[in-house]
Amino acid sequence: MSSANPQADAQQILERMTRLRDEGIACQACELYKTRSNMVFGEGNVLSPIVVVGEAPGEDEDREARPFVGRSGKLLSQLLGAAGIRREDVWLTNVIKSRPLKMEGNRKTNRPPTAVEIRACNRWISTELDIIRPRIIIALGATAANQVIHRDFKMTMERGQWFLAAGPAIPTTMLPAGTGSDLKAGSVASENQLSMFDATPAPAAPTPPVANESAAWAIATFHPAYTIRQEGAALERMQQVTVNDFKLALVKLAELYK
Ligand code: SF4
Repeated sequence: MSSANPQADAQQILERMTRLRDEGIACQACELYKTRSNMVFGEGNVLSPIVVVGEAPGEDEDREARPFVGRSGKLLSQLLGAAGIRREDVWLTNVIKSRPLKMEGNRKTNRPPTAVEIRACNRWISTELDIIRPRIIIALGATAANQVIHRDFKMTMERGQWFLAAGPAIPTTMLPAGTGSDLKAGSVASENQLSMFDATPAPAAPTPPVANESAAWAIATFHPAYTIRQEGAALERMQQVTVNDFKLALVKLAELYK
């Protein structure tokens, strides 16, 4: 649905997202509110056709109340950049908004979110997607893919493939200039999967038939928190695969708006 006044639409989207964020800050819908320092809402370009969804905030994100600001977040920015996507041009968010943690001795460490926590937190990611209405959703890791693509997502088999996701398109009047290769808008996979992924560089974009013009397409790639734990050649390969998957998103976006 396009509008005669895209600026008014943009303002409305921004206001809806701001209201959602303000509401979310006080969320106590699961036990994680008791141990968090901050609820970590999404950030970035609320008008972007691309939303990147990760798993959950870690220690740095919890402290700074911003997603993807720790080591793995910096790697994410770097890999997005290598694909030609500026971090600030997309909307970055997580399935879970408060840090899931466990105690190891006196140390607080990250843990994967539980199914109960994911269910409780679903309203925030669902509403974010409903407000932004992206054309492309990039899921980082299996937890995000399970939530935004389908249950029991298999990273080994399904990473880098396109899936039709529910959700209407953003109005084309809000598209950034130069969508495509020139975007300038205003539970992590297990260790044994590493040797199984396809590291072929720059794969051709698989292109399922477009169901309708309001479809959102979703693709999954590795979570940078997993990638950063690799070393040597494995680290290199996983980074290259992730960059290629991000490039596929740009190819798909260009296809959708050609
Ligand atoms: S994880 Fe989500 S549902 Fe749980 S308290 Fe935080 S914001 Fe609320």
